[in-house]
Amino acid sequence: MTLTRIDLLRMQYRDLVAADAELRVPAGWMAAFERWLDDLDQARRAVGSGKPILVLECVPGNGGLDRRVSLPWCPPKGLHERVEAADRRLDETCARTCRECGSPGAPRFVGGVMLVACEAHAQGFPAIKRRGNGK
Ligand SMILES: [Zn+2]
Repeated sequence: MTLTRIDLLRMQYRDLVAADAELRVPAGWMAAFERWLDDLDQARRAVGSGKPILVLECVPGNGGLDRRVSLPWCPPKGLHERVEAADRRLDETCARTCRECGSPGAPRFVGGVMLVACEAHAQGFPAIKRRGNGK
């Protein structure tokens, strides 16, 4: 049996990722996903021991990765902010990274679904123009 990158991450982050969590991450977003896990793990350590954060799911969604993460009802001080920062970084990275190869990419509508792809993986679909806010 060959261990996948996801299998190895499950072992590395066993205190952070639920044993039965569904994890499906396109190759181009794997680095961003690892960074997100690391950010969450640091947040978890910063608030002390135990399992205040539990990743339940991470799968491809509309233009990014959809996640389900369990947090306590009354999270320790600062935990929410740290998790939000990790989520924001992941979303921003996915929005400009080709999910196939990890090269710089842009969101495109492909068959009604938003996909982030580089020019090589865009199959001719044009990038969606962003409005305002200088991004
Ligand atoms: Zn690509």
